[in-house]
Amino acid sequence: MNLIQQIISQARNFLTCPVCHGSYGENEIRLRGYIDNIYIFQTFCSKGHEPTVVTYLASLQKTGGETRGKPQEAHFHPISQGKITDEELSQINSRIEGLTSSFEELWQSS
Ligand SMILES: [Zn+2]
Repeated sequence: MNLIQQIISQARNFLTCPVCHGSYGENEIRLRGYIDNIYIFQTFCSKGHEPTVVTYLASLQKTGGETRGKPQEAHFHPISQGKITDEELSQINSRIEGLTSSFEELWQSS
């Protein structure tokens, strides 16, 4: 199991959806990038609710000699809970509203 798989495995054990409190499936956690020892993850969930995206920073606990060979412990820090979803939802809503008005205009003009 490589480092990324270890972090994703720990994320599946520790992180839950802030809306429905369900745990995440393997394909609902995505690595977005990393800087030095900080990994950027996004989690997705839409089980019975509006699609929700949470961005996490995962930092790895440095392990000393005594714990060598054990999986490194990851700590997860949510950095944009709900914000991305709100922006995306408002963008989608404005697009839908735009479409609806043009559909109405089409219907009215026909
Ligand atoms: Zn959920």
